Amino acid sequence: MNHNLFATFAERMRERDDADFITTREGQRYTYADALAASAQLAGALTGIGVQQGDRVAVQVDKSPEAILLYLACLRIGAVYLPLNTGYTGEEIRYFLADAEPALFVCRAAVLDEAQRIATETGCPAVETLGTAADGSLMEKAAAATPREDIVPLGERDLAAILYTSGTTGRSKGAMLTHRNLGSNAETLRQAWHFTPEDRLIHALPIFHTHGLFVACNVTLMTGSSMLFLPKFDADVIFEEMPRGSVLMGVPTFYTRLVADERLTPEVTANIRLFVSGSAPLTAETHREFEQKTGHAILERYGMTETNMNLSNPYDGERRAGTVGMPLPGVEFRVMDRETRKPVPRGEIGMLEIRGPNVFIGYWRMPEKTREELLEDGFFITGDLAMVDDQGYVHIVGRDKDLVISGGYNVYPKEVEQLIDELEEVDESAVIGLPHPDFGEGVTAVVVRQAGSRIDEAGVLAHLNGRLAKYKQPKKVFFVSTLPRNTMGKVQKNELRKQFQDTYR
Ligand code: ATP
Ligand code: MG
Repeated sequence: MNHNLFATFAERMRERDDADFITTREGQRYTYADALAASAQLAGALTGIGVQQGDRVAVQVDKSPEAILLYLACLRIGAVYLPLNTGYTGEEIRYFLADAEPALFVCRAAVLDEAQRIATETGCPAVETLGTAADGSLMEKAAAATPREDIVPLGERDLAAILYTSGTTGRSKGAMLTHRNLGSNAETLRQAWHFTPEDRLIHALPIFHTHGLFVACNVTLMTGSSMLFLPKFDADVIFEEMPRGSVLMGVPTFYTRLVADERLTPEVTANIRLFVSGSAPLTAETHREFEQKTGHAILERYGMTETNMNLSNPYDGERRAGTVGMPLPGVEFRVMDRETRKPVPRGEIGMLEIRGPNVFIGYWRMPEKTREELLEDGFFITGDLAMVDDQGYVHIVGRDKDLVISGGYNVYPKEVEQLIDELEEVDESAVIGLPHPDFGEGVTAVVVRQAGSRIDEAGVLAHLNGRLAKYKQPKKVFFVSTLPRNTMGKVQKNELRKQFQDTYR
């Protein structure tokens, strides 16, 4: 049996034939038959360039249907797709190319000169360009190439992709994902979220990250449904397209923006059967407000680069605000004491660990880190702290690295943030630990005021007094106009810690 994920996709693609796969508002349209043919042309081009089975293909391009076809072409020939954040600068790209040693780097035409220089310096033998209008040297080569209609036979542990983590807690790590990792998760999600060939996904996420690439595209390919590709999240466009879509996948910032918009009504969302949120915590408040305004309970799920999706609120049954639900079929989890490494009783906070066919096989060229985080019994230490409530719903309490230890006591930032966010005058907040001469770390709040509000430090602290033990109360409250976030809506606490590092020194 060929475990190449593309073999599974190809079956679906043949069945769906002239049904839409990807369309854009600019009029681009790939049916499944088109996509199958284009993947063979691109596979031919890759082979002509010298890309062989097992070779990495690094890709830093703007979002386009062709970038997904390139991903499919890589799967087809057993090359390893390696997408890179479009925000990375030349210096960052240099690190990734040196680390991954790709056989080909596909870049935007505008940065070709620089890309060629970096490729030469890092020993990458080929550079091609890919634009957003089906243009670029790679597409020219594909048009002229002899198509490769074959699907390279692979084992289930063969690599499909190396996906770098977001770098929220440190330097990005390359997660090695196999054909089985991606295939098992896509099939699990297809079933869990009731995808059918009639679905039309509104796709406004970037495609260099697990959410927009694997969750969205692999589920679509597994189902034979279609996607509307949008370059980015634009509320005007989303409102226009919702009546023609059936699923929206978003990061929490999509939903906070939609909720704040007066156009959000039951009518405009009537055609959507599923709103999914993930990549960062969705506040219970946004979940409730969205439901009040539309009648839809957002389905929040939890996953990461290393594992694809692990936990999900139920499709049928209660979707609990502020929780990420239960393990997906085939996925196991446990919550472990940080020190004793024993499971904690239900209701208590510990380190979340995950095991299943979705879990990656290690970090690219980081054997030490892999050994530390991927345990011998197959469980992966996620680095997230979690708690299971009395009904079995998992709550993500925050990242282990963001835990504040003040005077020897653990302070979970989320608990403090939730109380601060209750204040009418507060838009949002981030609680961090900063070096403190007496306490080790000093609990510190960074707050964004609601427009027009003048709440000050005393106002925030007064609200916490009596509601929170003294040791959990911030020693200092800073006010900022926005919290630093990356493209996936993740708050960059590292940056805040750096910005305020000398507060208590
Ligand atoms: P790095 O590992 O490089 O520090 P990162 O962990 O942010 O970066 P990703 O793999 O993109 O990189 O993100 C996975 C993380 O996102 C999870 O470990 C978790 O902290 C967070 N996350 C994802 N979904 C949710 C969710 N629904 N609720 C809360 N946190 C979430
Ligand atoms: Mg991580």
